[in-house]
Amino acid sequence: MTTTKTYSQVWDLDVFFKGGSDSEELRTHLDAVKQQIGELESLASATQTPTSVDEAGKILHVIDEIKNTAKNLREAGAVIGCFLAANTKDKKALILQAEVGTLGARFQTAVLKIKQVVAKTEESIWKELLATEQLSQFDFILQEWREEVQLKLSEEEESLITALSVDGYQGWGQLYDQLVGDITIEMTVDGEEKKLSVGQANNLSSHADVSVRKEAFEKLEEAWETKEDFFASTLNHLAGFRLAVYEKRGWDSVLKEPLMKNRMSQETLDAMWGAISANKGPFAQYLKRKAELLGNENMNWYDLDAPVTSSTKEMSYQEGAEFILEHFGKFGPELESFSRKAFEDSWIEAEDRANKRPGGFCTGMPVSEQSRIFMTYSGSMSNVATLAHELGHAFHSYALRPVHYMNRQYAMGVAETASTFAEMIVADASVKAAETQEEKLALLEDKIQRSVAFFMNIHARFLFETRFYEERKNGVVPAARLNELMAEAQKEAYAGALDTVHPHFWASKLHFYITGTPFYNFPYTFGYLFSLSIYAKAIAEGESFEQKYMALLRDTAVMSVEDLAMKHLGEDITKEEFWAKGVALCVKDVEEFLKIASEER
Ligand SMILES: [Zn+2]
Repeated sequence: MTTTKTYSQVWDLDVFFKGGSDSEELRTHLDAVKQQIGELESLASATQTPTSVDEAGKILHVIDEIKNTAKNLREAGAVIGCFLAANTKDKKALILQAEVGTLGARFQTAVLKIKQVVAKTEESIWKELLATEQLSQFDFILQEWREEVQLKLSEEEESLITALSVDGYQGWGQLYDQLVGDITIEMTVDGEEKKLSVGQANNLSSHADVSVRKEAFEKLEEAWETKEDFFASTLNHLAGFRLAVYEKRGWDSVLKEPLMKNRMSQETLDAMWGAISANKGPFAQYLKRKAELLGNENMNWYDLDAPVTSSTKEMSYQEGAEFILEHFGKFGPELESFSRKAFEDSWIEAEDRANKRPGGFCTGMPVSEQSRIFMTYSGSMSNVATLAHELGHAFHSYALRPVHYMNRQYAMGVAETASTFAEMIVADASVKAAETQEEKLALLEDKIQRSVAFFMNIHARFLFETRFYEERKNGVVPAARLNELMAEAQKEAYAGALDTVHPHFWASKLHFYITGTPFYNFPYTFGYLFSLSIYAKAIAEGESFEQKYMALLRDTAVMSVEDLAMKHLGEDITKEEFWAKGVALCVKDVEEFLKIASEER
């Protein structure tokens, strides 16, 4: 082992812009970005539809201008996001964030204008352009621009829709946030009378005391029920807008947009759910066994997240970092050396202190070609897994460094590939390193919970949403019917393993109200299983696999997911067999869990 330094738990942001949200360097940078966007707007107005192949150079110039502006804007946005995450009370950062938001909207509008003009090129000239030396490397994204423009309405009509969607579509998503923010749950926790936000009440789902879990669940259901008509109207209006736009564009499937965004075919999606549906038995068995461990015959919704053991293994930050590096190293030298550098150069904000945002993320600074990782490390094994997960995201950006910035914009489904992969390495290593059976059981449970989330919970969301949108085509779907649809979807997706379900889940889950990304569900499951199959290959092939893995990551934004899997894994993901192999890996965890659980009690 190399000599180890003590790693800082506080990140270094001064390398980007000195002085935090007061930074003069950042001010100067933002002023320059503003000027650049002004220039891009002029360029957008001056850009004309190419009429000959000689214009390839002009298009390349436009692409490079978009790239430069995008990188500078992103650099500022990422650093400002870091300021706010590390100190939610940073008022100056909040103002800067709003400024970047406005600049971002102007940038998007200019880019859209360019796309529409360029994509109108006559077919034969278009083909010649894509074959030129200057543009052939952008052939995938340019083709995507063109298809998008062809599938949509005219420029005037689409811009009218965009303008109307601010109040007619996004507005409903914002109203949802307001409605939820207005709910408080009053209950006694650990002897104390408390007024909880929805988020805080949701966190009680993993409380060790069943009476607390049950009360929080029932009070939440009651709160959703009291306002169910408001939530139902919100959801119906949001869906109604989306369907009306699709109808005008002549799109008959509600999955068209989300599939396009994820560069995925319907066949692939069907094959994935098909393989999952056919292999739910072991997971239902696990839920039944867990219910028994908790003293019940069948599983209740409010017991899904309950802890099964009191085992709590802990690792200091330094130990966690060394554990990660040791196991990354077994997979491949680049992942290890990259991550070691991230620890040494203070890329990670992990300190457990007040005023930090909850959760974890990884963000990229494309001008500096660096990343930053945010989380709060308190010593649990799940913190170690999160740290590995975020390092995986950073490694994805690292792998993409040689690629043109325009060819790095990967979709949601593949976005979680590198992160899940890195998390798997560490989660598996933790199970192997467990010192007691109790500890092993808890760590296995942690892994299985992920499978249950992706194969059952997310599946229920997908089933509900697909069916709701079908019914919505014929008119408004009232709250009572939404409850029915959700209850049915949950019973089906959990393969009959649930005794009590959560009918108002459609009101409680913000993902159904996200306007930017429709069907914010199946890409999660895709990413998980896709990454599992890469992981299985890595185990089989050893260290030599790393270069192939990095080549796959470099291609994540320039081809369909089907082509990506075929080129780098030699797998046909439109077939159920591919997906079944990933599910089988998860079943192994369940088998081991059931074995230990039966030996133990
Ligand atoms: Zn992630």
